[in-house]
Amino acid sequence: MRRKMKGTAVFLLGMMLGTALMHMDSGGGARGADIQTSAEKTAVEKEGLEQEPRKIALTFDDGPHPVYTPKLLDGLKERGITATFFLIGRNAEAYPDVVRRIYEEGHLIGNHTYSHVRLSDLTEEEVRREVEQTSNLIEELVGEPLIYIRPPFGDWKEDIDCGMGVIPVWWTVDSRDWETGNAAEIVKRVVTQAEENDIILMHDWYESSVDAALQIADILEQQGYEFVTAEELILP
Ligand SMILES: [Zn+2]
Repeated sequence: MRRKMKGTAVFLLGMMLGTALMHMDSGGGARGADIQTSAEKTAVEKEGLEQEPRKIALTFDDGPHPVYTPKLLDGLKERGITATFFLIGRNAEAYPDVVRRIYEEGHLIGNHTYSHVRLSDLTEEEVRREVEQTSNLIEELVGEPLIYIRPPFGDWKEDIDCGMGVIPVWWTVDSRDWETGNAAEIVKRVVTQAEENDIILMHDWYESSVDAALQIADILEQQGYEFVTAEELILP
């Protein structure tokens, strides 16, 4: 809710700025009693929207990790960056304080199943257990239900949620950070691919991934990107 309001506020601010610019323009007198056409207005509004920062989302799967996730949270906090964490239920159960901290610091939490399984290999009852057990225990910790799921291995098919209504979240840039312990390599792989509205997949289960993520954040921020949750990029 808070995030949506923020989006609306930015939009309204943009509209107000656009209106102010129009007034300045028409009141400047340079063009005399010239009446602004609707085409001109549209151009001003469009320009205002184009000046908004390009959005991008960092997403982290498989945590929380007792050491690396807090390290990542420290770095994100320092930079004022919001991210998305798809948590494995059994890890959330083992490290509840880290789960609470993720939530309290304004990040979005999603479901990554209880024991990191291929959902399509399971019976309906098993799928339900993997998903609901995770949702329930995280909801108990943070006081808010989970809406989103990132299926392990991207393994998902229509109706696999058995009517539970969870929304799958994919990614558009795969860091393949689990392949290497070399942070520089991960940074290069991500920043050379990253574009506006991308959802970047990483794992806060490795120290090299956390180091890389913070470097990626600095580089992309310098390039004018604004970090948002995955939710902000998938909502219509
Ligand atoms: Zn995973």
